[in-house]
Amino acid sequence: MGATTIVIGAGVVGLCVAERLAAAGDRVIVVDRSGPGAGTSGTSFVWLNANSKVPRAYHQLNVDGVEAWRRASQDSRTTAWLHLNGRIQWASGEAAIAALETAAAATAAWGYPVEAITVAAATRLEPDLLIPPDAQVRVWPTEGFLVPPLALEWLLVRALARNVELATGFEVVAIEVHGTGVRGVLGHTGRRLSADRVVCCAGRWTTSVLASVGVAVDVLPTVQGSPAIGLLGYASSSTARLGRTISTANLNVRPGRAAGRYVLQAPDLDRLADPDGPPDPGDTAARELLARTRTAVGGFTNARVDELRVGYRVVPADRITVSEWAPGLEGLYLVVTHSGYTLGLHLAELVAAEVAGGVESPALAYLRRARVDQAGAAASSADPAAAMTPIH
Ligand SMILES: Cc1cc2nc3c(=O)[nH]c(=O)nc-3n(C[C@H](O)[C@H](O)[C@H](O)COP(=O)(O)OP(=O)(O)OC[C@H]3O[C@@H](n4cnc5c(N)ncnc54)[C@H](O)[C@@H]3O)c2cc1C
Repeated sequence: MGATTIVIGAGVVGLCVAERLAAAGDRVIVVDRSGPGAGTSGTSFVWLNANSKVPRAYHQLNVDGVEAWRRASQDSRTTAWLHLNGRIQWASGEAAIAALETAAAATAAWGYPVEAITVAAATRLEPDLLIPPDAQVRVWPTEGFLVPPLALEWLLVRALARNVELATGFEVVAIEVHGTGVRGVLGHTGRRLSADRVVCCAGRWTTSVLASVGVAVDVLPTVQGSPAIGLLGYASSSTARLGRTISTANLNVRPGRAAGRYVLQAPDLDRLADPDGPPDPGDTAARELLARTRTAVGGFTNARVDELRVGYRVVPADRITVSEWAPGLEGLYLVVTHSGYTLGLHLAELVAAEVAGGVESPALAYLRRARVDQAGAAASSADPAAAMTPIH
């Protein structure tokens, strides 16, 4: 048995990293104060994509992320957790069409597959779409979505099959240090777990978890109006039929876990989400989400949004993943990322090579904190407006 590594957090990132570290020979213990999916991974749109991801290296990381899911599904006996069946997007009206064409051209220039199709072809793929006759339609054939509870279950089973140990209800209150190196974690009950290394995958709690060792990452604030706050509507319709993710200029819809269940997202409505107040499925945001969905997909006339959830993204200030050894402290590694579903599997492979293999991954070279600290000063402090630009 190799080194003992504690992974803090059983979200999508922590579960992916734990499995790869165990595959590399570590004894791995995942600790979570609640359980798998209790954090942001339980409230996510889970669109797998590299769309609008810049710069080029980050786009490529996301392309590789989606590809990692495709490969994993080929090696798995169950695939109900993954739908890589493409995303259909349309735009109608001069400005929206121009924006769609610009976005499609930009991604196509990087070799990212995108196809122009007719309205008729789109409705052959998804008969319930209500696409205006003058619309321009694009399909991104490599994109898709995961079904979060099933995907998390699959990741957990896969990790347990590698003998990863899971300690739920274990809240880390301190990372324990001896000299210049990490020696384990201290739980809220006073229980100590010893380890040679600790990998922090605590998502939006990263800052509080790392406070005990004085490590900080500049992330976007989780205040109302910040792109770190996202709103998702959950609706049921017994008559709508939709098998793919679809997008318009102001709406994203994907199928949910059960038949007839759909997840609705409109990034411009995220600003209505109050991080301190429970969202009401009868409020303005829910009504607007449903109204937009009714104009985009048939079969929603009698549907209603029965659940509205606020999600909290952890977004490094310049919006790009941080993945690195904590400076000045041996044995502490941190992974902080938005798009954790798209990136989780692939990132875990690279992280495990650095953590267990001791090999610096060139693909992670630009995912270091020094970059965020510089950009963060511009994005979150000096220029608050930049920190408020929406994230999809
Ligand atoms: C509205 C919304 C839409 C999104 N859409 C997409 C999308 O379309 N595509 C995509 O790829 N990504 C999307 N994301 C982002 C994605 O969901 C996240 O990047 C991902 O879920 C983060 O996973 P994580 O494992 O890093 O964090 P989390 O899932 O938050 O996991 C962190 C875990 O750490 C545990 N923890 C915290 N503190 C402690 C402690 N002290 N001790 C022990 N355990 C602790 C928590 O209980 C939690 O389980 C979206 C996010 C939101 C909010």
